[in-house]
Amino acid sequence: MSVEQAPVQRADFDQVMVPNYSPAAFIPVRGEGSRVWDQSGRELIDFAGGIAVNALGHCHPALVKALTEQANTLWHVSNVFTNEPALRLAHKLVDATFAERAFFCNSGAESNEAAFKLARRVAHDRFGPEKHEIIATVNSFHGRTLFTVSVGGQPKYSDGFGPKITGISHVPYNDLEALKAQISDKTCAVVIEPIQGESGVVPADKAYLEGARKLCDEHNALLIFDEVQTGVGRTGSLYAYQHYGVTPDILTSAKSLGGGFPIGAMLTTTDLAKHLAVGTHGTTYGGNPLACAVACAVLDVVNTPETLAGIKAKHERFKSRLEQIGQQSGLFTQVRGVGLLIGCVLSDAWKGKAKDILNAAEKEGVMVLQAGPDVVRFAPSLVVEDADIDEGLARFERAVAKLIQG
Ligand SMILES: *Cc1c(COP(=O)(O)O)cnc(C)c1O
Repeated sequence: MSVEQAPVQRADFDQVMVPNYSPAAFIPVRGEGSRVWDQSGRELIDFAGGIAVNALGHCHPALVKALTEQANTLWHVSNVFTNEPALRLAHKLVDATFAERAFFCNSGAESNEAAFKLARRVAHDRFGPEKHEIIATVNSFHGRTLFTVSVGGQPKYSDGFGPKITGISHVPYNDLEALKAQISDKTCAVVIEPIQGESGVVPADKAYLEGARKLCDEHNALLIFDEVQTGVGRTGSLYAYQHYGVTPDILTSAKSLGGGFPIGAMLTTTDLAKHLAVGTHGTTYGGNPLACAVACAVLDVVNTPETLAGIKAKHERFKSRLEQIGQQSGLFTQVRGVGLLIGCVLSDAWKGKAKDILNAAEKEGVMVLQAGPDVVRFAPSLVVEDADIDEGLARFERAVAKLIQG
């Protein structure tokens, strides 16, 4: 028999949690598709998707089935043993991408940690210790471990924790000349988000990624694409590198990969993978059967022509309505992004107020995200129903109207 659980409220957060987050005033308790209900039974439409994680919305039947079946079969064995779901997932990812090898972990930061360590290891083995420099971009986000905040281009996340990892430089995003000026024979890797997610939904120019690929080849440096946010259908291609037609040496994936169950992956070639020989890297939970079973189910639903085409169609539906709302209200100057990663750039009058817009939207019953202080971000379920898009944007429009009235 289940034991009655003690009631908890938002106020408990301030009593028992480390204060590194500032969660909303309400607590979501249940979700279905693109709808979420809070403790009071209030219903909201979810265009935040757990920060681009809930790729198939909430409690998608295929994911519930995969998770419960696996939960009744085998939860965890560690990497002292391999397991069937991990091998199946690796096959799916290898079949669907440039990659020939997969490494599994539990988050985006860990997948990048593995990517950066692999890049340094390859350079160390092939060229010696001098070749260890990593070039990243200004305003990039790669996670919150010390290595990944050091590589990330945002001092607000990396300062104040003592010495950072050294050998890392930052160049302006989408600026090929700046990359060209910085890259050298000491560079072991260049890491780029094909669309900068956290810092404003800024898509790369195709020529920039092509140029970066060429520069890396000329300098024996590896090109790493951080696809933690852009991966698994988010752009309407399975991975954004396929949308751009520029292939990296190492790709990192997380967020949507588990559809809400924690998992990360680093994908690469056989030739590079061999540098992470037995014992060089690892993680207890990586490749956990529960996570891998769910990720297999996510890929089975997302990586179909119907779902991917649907994402492109839904992009148009969002974009045209958001542009209309932006023009009528004077709130945005631009709606940008690819697939279902969309950023609305606030006009000068509203600069810095993305959080106020989030709060106003929530009051009207729609959850959206910010991407920095000046951009409102939408990262809904990849299979969000058209009716939910229309209703959610109607609520968003009401929120904007109220905000403008003051
Ligand atoms: C979210 C994100 C990460 C970090 O992922 P975590 O799972 O939070 O560690 C890394 N890179 C990008 C591009 C992201 O959007």
